[in-house]
Amino acid sequence: MNISHIEHIGIAVKNLEESIQYWENVMGLKCYAVEEVKDQRVRTAFFMVGGTKIELLESTDPEGPIGKFIEKKGEGVHHLAFAVKGIEQSLEDVASKGVQLIDQKPRRGAEGLDIAFLHPKSTFGVLTELCENKNDK
Ligand code: ZN
Repeated sequence: MNISHIEHIGIAVKNLEESIQYWENVMGLKCYAVEEVKDQRVRTAFFMVGGTKIELLESTDPEGPIGKFIEKKGEGVHHLAFAVKGIEQSLEDVASKGVQLIDQKPRRGAEGLDIAFLHPKSTFGVLTELCENKNDK
């Protein structure tokens, strides 16, 4: 696997607007995008911190992945996303090393990235997202 950097940190929140207020007014960051990702049943808000983004995730459906996460664990850090070169190859590599995949193939995430999740059972508790911006090339 070829990781270049932490692309973003995903944080589950109950109320996107209230959380945006915190990140803007207290942390002094500017929200540059709000986007609904229907596939994942979330609304997202993005902030840039150096080369890494903060991705806030608000559930649009209590039965969706973020809705369930908040129900079980409450608000907080949800996943780490690593930018990789060659996401398909990376998935094959980690699968061959015994890591359980949530997504067998990349799918389209927020901001037009190709994304895939690794199961936290295989990653010592860290829900791990691999992503690749193929528009970069
Ligand atoms: Zn993410």
